[in-house]
Amino acid sequence: MLHCFDAAIIGGGVVGSAIARELSRYDLSIAVLEENPDVVCEASGRNSAVVHGGFAYDRGSLKARLCVEGNRMMDDLSRELGFRFIRCGKVLVGNTDEDLRQLEKTMAQGFDNGATGLELIDGDRLHELVPAVNGGFAMLSRNSGIMDPFLFTINLAENAAMNGARYFLSHKAESIERRDGRYIIHAGDDDFSVKWIFNAAGKGAKDISDMLGIAGCRVIGSKGNYLVLDKRLGLLLPMPVYPVPSNTYMGIHVTPTVDGNVTVGPDAVDTDDFGYYGVPADRMEYLRESASTLWPHIEKKDVIRTFSGILAKWVDDKGVIQDFRIEVRDDIAPCAVNLIGIESPGLTAAVPIARYAISLMKERADLRERKDFDPIHPSARRFSDMSEEERAAAVASDPRYGSLVCSCEKVTEAEIVRAIHNPLGVHTMTGIKYRTRAMMGGCQAGFCQMKIERLLEKELGIKPEDVRYMRSSSWVLSGRMREA
Ligand SMILES: Cc1cc2nc3c(=O)[nH]c(=O)nc-3n(C[C@H](O)[C@H](O)[C@H](O)COP(=O)(O)OP(=O)(O)OC[C@H]3O[C@@H](n4cnc5c(N)ncnc54)[C@H](O)[C@@H]3O)c2cc1C
Repeated sequence: MLHCFDAAIIGGGVVGSAIARELSRYDLSIAVLEENPDVVCEASGRNSAVVHGGFAYDRGSLKARLCVEGNRMMDDLSRELGFRFIRCGKVLVGNTDEDLRQLEKTMAQGFDNGATGLELIDGDRLHELVPAVNGGFAMLSRNSGIMDPFLFTINLAENAAMNGARYFLSHKAESIERRDGRYIIHAGDDDFSVKWIFNAAGKGAKDISDMLGIAGCRVIGSKGNYLVLDKRLGLLLPMPVYPVPSNTYMGIHVTPTVDGNVTVGPDAVDTDDFGYYGVPADRMEYLRESASTLWPHIEKKDVIRTFSGILAKWVDDKGVIQDFRIEVRDDIAPCAVNLIGIESPGLTAAVPIARYAISLMKERADLRERKDFDPIHPSARRFSDMSEEERAAAVASDPRYGSLVCSCEKVTEAEIVRAIHNPLGVHTMTGIKYRTRAMMGGCQAGFCQMKIERLLEKELGIKPEDVRYMRSSSWVLSGRMREA
């Protein structure tokens, strides 16, 4: 089938979804093509979830400028979109003279980048802030924070959809042609005729560049593995603790999550395989040992899960990592905004990245603002956050609030059903998990996975073998072992 839109965004991660939302402020028809059945299957759902301060990037770089902007707007974004963001600060911990010199350089770079709230603190102040951390002094970044990367991305996407952007999930852009001043994007059985293209395909951005005729983008993969620790440890860690960084790698850090867990990682392993997210056993031990030199609480018994993410870094011919590359090549691919190498701090900077990309379109096209754009994402209060009175009122208004599906995270049937009927039409198990936190607790889905699978069957009227875990090829059940 042929669809016509003013603009197509290829890639529905945090950057594509931020572009979709920012573009939906204008009078345009917008399509988002996403290869996966959901928007947080790749880097945007697989990271440290730290809102960076902007001190660790080269002076004058887009990374530095857009990170500082993103950090400043995060309180407003969190209010508008209803995702959790905590400006808890973070410390970069040192012990040697060389560490001190490096922290002083990092801080000076931060001030030049426009970062605020940076100071060097001594050991006493450090131990007041983070008890039991191993370090003689630190650089404190008061304005750094932590956020929910799943709901940030999902709510950007849902808000874009509520403002008229159309999401085409499980649609992989396979080839692109230019005909009569328009682009035709072929994606499975559907073709999209569009005037403008935004290439926000993350790890796939090099392939889309090639399809647009923009050759020569060299992208390498750097895989970061993580451990997730039980909530017992979240109580002991008020803010992220990092070692002294370089400008290209932050080092293995320990980070509290907005929901009370702790993540440990990432390491940085070069990879060509952008599809393999397994975490090898030796890496788990390496992460635990490395992070224990910073923070001594990490015991094997507290590890409840592992995960990994892959950074797509743009490098030059010599392999040196480059800045974000966001450009329109009028000579080769007019009306195509190409975004390459959107690695860290892409989560922090997603909305400024989107605005920068759209500014390139604005230099070349007249855009009319819509008066009816609504920036607010209507988010429901979580049952786990409600007071006893609120819970009683919720159960009285909908008895499904009285049925607990995930006991670890206290997620009710009412919340699961609401998530199943989400505005993007995401129907995977992880789609429910990222929207509700069901299956993220200590038992890691042992008790609730099958209840959620049955609710998906019931609400959507589908067969057990039609339920997918995360991707279109990840079946949960393949058939019956014996008839009932
Ligand atoms: C280990 C790690 C730690 C990080 N930590 C932080 C942090 O603490 N703070 C921070 O600010 N940033 C962090 N980042 C960076 C941040 O996560 C990324 O910069 C950001 O998520 C990139 O978003 P994206 O939308 O460009 O990419 P993605 O989320 O990868 O989205 C790209 C999307 O494009 C889709 N796609 C690809 N090819 C096609 C195609 N042909 N057709 C249709 N769709 C396609 C993919 O399926 C994917 O969903 C980290 C990243 C990693 C990997």
